[in-house]
Amino acid sequence: MNAAAVVTRFAPSPTGELHLGNVRTALFNLLLARRAGGRFVLRVEDTDAARTTETHVRALAEDLRWLGLDWDEGPGVGGPHGSYRQSQRQEIYSPLLTRLEAGDQAYPCFCSSAELDLSRRAQLAAGRPPRYAGTCARLDATARAERLASGTRPALRFRIPADRQLQFDDLVHGPQLVDTALIGDFLIRRDDGTPAFFFANAVDDSLMQVTQVLRGEDHLANTPRQLLVLEALGLRAPRYGHLPLLTGADGTPLSKRNGAQSVRELREAGYGALAICNQLFRLGHSCADNANLNLADMASRFEPGRLQRASAHFDPVQLRHWQGLWVRSLKPAAAQAWLAAFLPATAAPAQRAAAVTALLPNIVAAGEIVDWLPVVFGGELRWESDARAAAESAGAEFFRATAAAVTDNTELAALRAASGRQGAAFFAPLRAALTGRLHGPELAPLLRAMAPALVRERLAAWVR
Ligand code: GLU
Repeated sequence: MNAAAVVTRFAPSPTGELHLGNVRTALFNLLLARRAGGRFVLRVEDTDAARTTETHVRALAEDLRWLGLDWDEGPGVGGPHGSYRQSQRQEIYSPLLTRLEAGDQAYPCFCSSAELDLSRRAQLAAGRPPRYAGTCARLDATARAERLASGTRPALRFRIPADRQLQFDDLVHGPQLVDTALIGDFLIRRDDGTPAFFFANAVDDSLMQVTQVLRGEDHLANTPRQLLVLEALGLRAPRYGHLPLLTGADGTPLSKRNGAQSVRELREAGYGALAICNQLFRLGHSCADNANLNLADMASRFEPGRLQRASAHFDPVQLRHWQGLWVRSLKPAAAQAWLAAFLPATAAPAQRAAAVTALLPNIVAAGEIVDWLPVVFGGELRWESDARAAAESAGAEFFRATAAAVTDNTELAALRAASGRQGAAFFAPLRAALTGRLHGPELAPLLRAMAPALVRERLAAWVR
């Protein structure tokens, strides 16, 4: 393996549905690896047993695969640094935790959550930022032995080296300088024996040879702690980059209220994976190319230097724009597959295909086709009043003539010739009678999709 290879990862905690913020993180990490011919790792951070469910783990993998964000190493794929689920890495963590404790870089902490809470509140009341007060940092061997003998199961706390100025260069935010005096000693193992986030996340990145980590800005403040853990273990740290948060168009964090939907919801509404990726590619990463790109194109255009610091707004209107471009780019077979579930199962395959050809230019989200189905397959039309007026004013003779010209393969030109009219005087009443509206799909492909009997019936209905 090439030691200089770029390795990135996506490390979700499977405690809920995959949302757009996560997907952007996954996408950017994938692109960062692909542009350099490197590897993209998926690691499931499932140490919080109470909040992790297998349903979420499965859904996560399914969502990523559907999006095309395939991982080179990880669950279901394997790789040299497994397991890729943190809940199965206890044997890897234990000796490292023991080593930190043996070297006095970590110490057992017996404080109860009630004691910690009290201390936190006292500090806040005194106007100080809450930090671990150091109660257990000073316990000697006898005091520790006593507490252990009393049956209290200790957590393990990392001892922050005093008076260090820690420097690191964030891929997005640039050089950072942190005074270790401002960081409290933090947990690396919970009292139930499971590894804490700061520890497992940092150690796994190093052991999995991750070279670059792009993640949410909420983790920027965690980075100094993680660098200290890796330093204490003599492990190589990845280069971190913290992405600005995604917000809704109103500037508040992305949520259901301002238009955010989970990947599953978007998929079920008929959004295309590439439409979602094209939109996210432009959120927090400036790209001069406004074309509808595939993942390989995005990878070649992805520039870490173009990652922005300002928060990025997700706008459903923009997603619709990318969705529209994606729909227009669909090849006939792909369009058929995309819309298959919405078409009447009883219709003949040729008619279903003709319906997709006719209706595709008029829809953006797959579900929108439902509105047009009665037009093609029969049923109650949703009449618009201006369309009714156009049909009424065309006169009975127009419809008698056009209805009589309907054959098994009616061409628009034949109807026009029969009507003796041109332009709007021909198209408007014809469209109105066939669709109940004055705007919509092109009439020639629509005529090919509709059953001749239905065309005749709709025209003849105006002969009165
Ligand atoms: N499991 C963490 C999360 O989902 C990972 C953070 C990181 O990418 O380092 O927030």
